[in-house]
Parts: sequence; structure tokens; C-alpha cells
Amino acid sequence: MRKKIVAGNWKMNKTLEEALILTSEVVNMVRDEVRGDVEVILCTPYIYLPVLQKYVEEVDRISLGAQNCHQKASGAYTGEISAPMLAALGTPYVLVGHSERRQYFGETDELLAEKVKIALANGLKPIFCCGELLEQRQNEDFIAIVKAQITAALFDLSAEDFGKVVIAYEPVWAIGTGLTATSQQAQDMHAALREHIAGQYGAQVADDTTILYGGSCNEKNAAELFACPDVDGGLIGGASLKSREFTNIIKARM
Ligand code: 13P
Repeated sequence: MRKKIVAGNWKMNKTLEEALILTSEVVNMVRDEVRGDVEVILCTPYIYLPVLQKYVEEVDRISLGAQNCHQKASGAYTGEISAPMLAALGTPYVLVGHSERRQYFGETDELLAEKVKIALANGLKPIFCCGELLEQRQNEDFIAIVKAQITAALFDLSAEDFGKVVIAYEPVWAIGTGLTATSQQAQDMHAALREHIAGQYGAQVADDTTILYGGSCNEKNAAELFACPDVDGGLIGGASLKSREFTNIIKARM
């Protein structure tokens, strides 16, 4: 079933004390103000996940996600966190393939395919991020580039497993830049990706796939983006660090 989701990606922000304040504010605002069937996910730094669990349990619609996981289940990988560790905490979601992971940590489509598989094997739901660079948008068939990211990382999954994946389209040129894709640009890409998924898994699976938009989404532009028929919600960076603004974005998806 296609879901309405607003996920916050905190990236490498907030001390523990700040994380507790932000989370309790979001929990209170969402409990008091948000109605309907929108699901809220907070993708926080790993170290806060066990601490924040009891805060988010207060409101059914809110859950936690990690921002990454390692491709192996365990072993001598100093500094890394595995999918079984996250699953044991009860963390339901994990971001895979964020453009910052691709850009700064050299994550390739092949590696991301492994991460998606180990996440699924441990019962985690991957939020798979894809998107084109500015120069790709200007010079190449950028829709084909994003389709190829999805093909490489996801298309050897069974239809059942694919159905557990959330897609997040994040044009890299729109991340943290204040340059948002127009709602038409977002809709065109989301529709193309849905058609691509239909080609592999059939129309029903494609229709059931949740596709989020990310990239300078804020309380001013969220309603227009979410009004697009193929935009099912958002993956929010900077604006998820402010409880009032993040809640307003969630309310735009109600
Ligand atoms: P911004 O909302 O800060 O542009 O970040 C988007 C993003 O990368 C979410 O994963």
C-alpha cells in the first residue's frame, strides 16, 4: 500500500540534549495537531536511536530510522553499525544511498544493492535515495540516470521485498541549497520512476510504491509538492531540525 510519509533526516546534527528537546517537541505537536494517515519517521544519528525510542512510542504514527547501515551482518569493521544491530533495537527504517553517502563515502550502486538486501533480510525497511547531480541534469538524460540507480540497487529484489522499500527522489542540486525542484519537475521524475517500476514489477506494485521528494523542502513549498499525484511525501533535511517547521510540513501532507 502506498503510504503518506514525512521523514526527517537529521544528518550529523544535534547533541543529545538538543535531540531530546527536538524529539519531545515534535512528539507533542504531532500528537496534538496531526490527523489522518500520515506516517512520520525521524532518521537520527545512530547513538540517539535507543534513547529516543521511548519518546516516539508515545505516538503511534511516529517511528525512527537510521541514516545508514553496513553491508555485512557483523565483523571487523571498526566504527560501523550493522542491520542486525538496528533490528535488535526495534528501529523500523534505514536510509540507504543518500547522496551524501554516495558523494563523500564513495557508496556505489553495487554496494547499495548489498545494503538494501541486508536491511531487508533483517526486517528493516529501506528508504532508498536516488537523484541526479546538477551537471547531469544540465547535460545528460537525467531521468535515465535516476532510473539506472533504481535498476542497479533494487531490481533484483523479489516483488515482495521490493514492496517493502520506500523510494526517496532527491535531486542533488536541491539538497541544502535552497533550490527546490518545482512541483512539475518533481512530479515528472516521480511519474517516470513509477512507470519504470511498473515495467519491472507491474502496475500494481508501482502504484503501491511510496515515492518521497527531498531537497530544500520546507513549510512554504511542501503543500504544493505534496499535491502532486506521484509525490507521496517528503524526506526533509534542514527543515526537520526545527520542530515547528517540521510539524507544519507534516500537516501539509495530512
Ligand atoms: P535539505 O532538506 O536540507 O535540502 O536536505 C534534503 C536531504 O538531503 C534529506 O535527506
